[in-house]
Amino acid sequence: MLRKWLCQADIKIIIEPVDPVLVKSGYATMDNADMVPVSTFKDGNSVYYFPGSSLKGVMRSHLERIARTLHPGKVCIPYYDPKKKDTTGPPIASERQSYGCSYDPEEKTSATAYADSCAACRLFGSLKFGGRLSISDAYPRSGHNPELELRNGVGIDRFTGGSVSGVLFDLQVLVGGEFETNLRLINFELWQLAALNILLSDMKDEMIAIGSGRSRGLGRVRITVSSYCLSYVKQVNNLKGLYQLAIDEERQAYALHCWAPQNAIALGTSHPRGLRHCYDLSANWKKTLHPLKPAFDKFLEWHSGPWGVASNDEAAA
Ligand SMILES: [Zn+2]
Repeated sequence: MLRKWLCQADIKIIIEPVDPVLVKSGYATMDNADMVPVSTFKDGNSVYYFPGSSLKGVMRSHLERIARTLHPGKVCIPYYDPKKKDTTGPPIASERQSYGCSYDPEEKTSATAYADSCAACRLFGSLKFGGRLSISDAYPRSGHNPELELRNGVGIDRFTGGSVSGVLFDLQVLVGGEFETNLRLINFELWQLAALNILLSDMKDEMIAIGSGRSRGLGRVRITVSSYCLSYVKQVNNLKGLYQLAIDEERQAYALHCWAPQNAIALGTSHPRGLRHCYDLSANWKKTLHPLKPAFDKFLEWHSGPWGVASNDEAAA
């Protein structure tokens, strides 16, 4: 996407598990539990962590749900393949055309693939291109390691919903602790920054659960934003997104969404970092960026959704 670097948001969050959390490792282990949280070695010690890909997955599905509620059919169902529509198609009429953007059969450049992708794919990526948002693995903060506990589970028959006799399994869950991770959004459109802020607020309100066993009361987390910085190559006085920073040809090719808040958002004083100009909004990001809130809804209203045909005529309208 755009062989340029125009703007970037770097956000550091602290994740506190409210419920015990299980993130399956997928490997058989020697410590007798059938399902264990993922661990790795860091600085010579074994530590448990939440993979960035798991965090990204739950954030994506939460945003998809919000988008489908606001504007039915406007984001794709990522693994809904039109070739299998007879067997796995969604039962809801407004979602029957929501084929995964990745299955669009047309040959596309990276620009048209971006232009025609739904909001979720533009932000989180698809098989056609990497998303704009990246999330690193979340490691325990020093002095805040989680406790490991063992839980028993009973096998549930998927057909009857009752328990299956003789099927018992052990779960290892992580309890407590604090994990830290970084989110990075490169070359953001303003609606994408708005969508990310919606996710941060919902995660602060414990609306998102991570890992397995969410239906059995595992996985609820609460986040706090510990740092929020925006950076640009050139000094800007007010908040700008990709549309404002790109040239006309790029706006057309990538079908960038033409939107700006009614009143310009002042970013304050910048701090130089190498060639970049950084604006530290850590103390007041929520209030400062509040006027961005309608942008996500506006984008969904404007873009035609999966396999979209976003045209700049509409953008200008
Ligand atoms: Zn999509």
